[in-house]
Amino acid sequence: MSLSTIPVWSPATELQIGEVAAWGEAQLTQAIAAAQAAQRQWIRLPLAERQAFLMRIADTIDAHAEELAMLESSDVGKPIRAARAEVAGVAACFRYYAGALDKVHGDTITLDDGISFTFHEPVGVVGVITPWNFPLPIASWNVAPALAAGNAVLVKPATLTPLSTVRFGELVAGISTIPGLLQVVTGAGSSVGQTLINDPRIGKISFTGSTEVGQSILRASAATMKRVTLELGGKSANIVFADADIEAAATAAPWAVFDNSGQDCCARSRIFVERSALDAFVDTFVEATRALKLGDPSSVDTDLGPLVSAEHRETVRGFLDPSLRFAYRGEAPDGPGHWMAPQIVLDEDGNSRAAVEEIFGPVAVVIPFDSEAEAIERANASVYGLSGSVWTRDVARALRVSRAVESGTISVNSNSSVRVQTPFGGFKQSGMGRELGLEGLLGYTELKTVFVKTDD
Ligand code: NAP
Ligand code: MG
Repeated sequence: MSLSTIPVWSPATELQIGEVAAWGEAQLTQAIAAAQAAQRQWIRLPLAERQAFLMRIADTIDAHAEELAMLESSDVGKPIRAARAEVAGVAACFRYYAGALDKVHGDTITLDDGISFTFHEPVGVVGVITPWNFPLPIASWNVAPALAAGNAVLVKPATLTPLSTVRFGELVAGISTIPGLLQVVTGAGSSVGQTLINDPRIGKISFTGSTEVGQSILRASAATMKRVTLELGGKSANIVFADADIEAAATAAPWAVFDNSGQDCCARSRIFVERSALDAFVDTFVEATRALKLGDPSSVDTDLGPLVSAEHRETVRGFLDPSLRFAYRGEAPDGPGHWMAPQIVLDEDGNSRAAVEEIFGPVAVVIPFDSEAEAIERANASVYGLSGSVWTRDVARALRVSRAVESGTISVNSNSSVRVQTPFGGFKQSGMGRELGLEGLLGYTELKTVFVKTDD
């Protein structure tokens, strides 16, 4: 039976650039059975062979890097420079977990009458549901550790931007001797995603996307007691103290919020600036923002592409209440393409909708503060807690504030959020569980305790 198809569009040209299959219930049922069979084969392979396979995936990505970057760029509207860097990161992620695979071991616990050992066993078959903003990187942050931990994986990419993940699935299938070990299944989240969540043969779901859908997944997973990792929304704080290198903070700030046209869960969209440095910061921030080049994603000079869809741009525009005070309003071409230039809002109280809700577009809100305690309190007055930055030359303050901010990641004098070697995930409603680093690998395992009686 042939599957129906879903068209895929370029957000820059509004032309159709491909189509993907809409997987039905029957195909998914078969795919999950194939994944179960594949997992049993995979876990029996010698460690070195499993490592070699993950390394081969990395090499294959490198060999097809330009093709994958161009697909991602045209599908998401992502500037080609960024897409190339992301694809290189995907290969690095597989290499990291190839190296980590044989370094996961349990504990030995001596007891009065014997010894217990702990083992990190694979979950079995896992489902990975990804969003449209960083399709291939987010797939890799889950597929690589899940495979490394001994699981088989089904990946469901976002319907808006499935092309790079589908191609990745084909490339992996081309080098795999175990059919079904990694399968890319496409179609609507409400059908394909729900099937994965409801199927008792799947032991874990890793979801990256909106807090709203994440909440529904958490509720639905109760029925089969599925393990879940949720990477959800954010409204991260960028806290700039007057003693910081203001020039450095202000020239870095546009990238911290407008990169990927603001469609970034780690976007530092609330910029708290100590009042005595406010004018100097805003002047430089506006200048640096004005210098960003919006345009054709395939050009190496482009810094910002379009938003992912017309619908999403309408949502973002909905935050730009004319009564807001703007420090900067960039202008974008009409179209074709879902263009939107950066917008910088000044908000004394930080209570506007733009300052509180996740916008997921190129909108930054600058909020002044007068003391360290106030900066921390305001930063924490959010349901989210994913990422953030602190800019200061005072080392003790940097550590004090970093510890006090309720957020999974904080960078000092930097915009850094995601490194393959370090855990990444949210406090509060930004999610649960961690991806990346060794934590990310352990998240794809079940802990087993084996007791051996030794007394006689
Ligand atoms: P979304 O609507 O929640 O969709 C994410 C994924 O879930 C897509 O593959 C989607 O499929 C699927 N989905 C939708 N409804 C579903 C359901 N009822 N059951 C199962 N799966 C379902 O999010 P988005 O609009 O793509 O992405 C934007 C959001 O993701 C933002 O809030 C952002 O902060 C968050 N995000 C978080 C991180 C992080 O690491 N914390 C990273 C990136 C993005 P369809 O595409 O078919 O609808
Ligand atoms: Mg969506």
